[in-house]
Amino acid sequence: MKIASNCVVSIHYTLTNDAGETLDSSAGGDPLSYLHGNNGLIPGLERELEGREPGDSFKASIQPADAYGEHNPQLVQEVPLEALAQIEELQVGMQLQSQSPDGQVQVLQVDAIGDSTATLNANHALAGQTLHFDVSVENVREANDEEIAHGHAH
Ligand code: ZN
Repeated sequence: MKIASNCVVSIHYTLTNDAGETLDSSAGGDPLSYLHGNNGLIPGLERELEGREPGDSFKASIQPADAYGEHNPQLVQEVPLEALAQIEELQVGMQLQSQSPDGQVQVLQVDAIGDSTATLNANHALAGQTLHFDVSVENVREANDEEIAHGHAH
């Protein structure tokens, strides 16, 4: 069957960046399964998968707007080290969780640590990057009622 909303789709994929470095891959493991049409994957990749069938292979380059968004400088902030005094062994590259005013959990990466402030970055690690996918469609089936109710594949 062809990929459409509320199908459970299994794919093998390799994700590379503009430099050709592999960022992620399902090769050598289980395929990735997701419920199509429920934001299980980035929008650009779901669009590329729409209407395809098992056995199809394709390559697609997805622009940031259809992937993890543009890099937003407003999501990078300098925070006084005093405000982070609770955190043990603060290090560059560390990921911190905070709650935004609307109650959403935000992941902040520590980009830099200065004498009196740290630079915290709430952009997704892949924000601003064009993502290159090499995909093969392994399986497509109809989702069951429970999967549709939950919004994800089981
Ligand atoms: Zn569930």
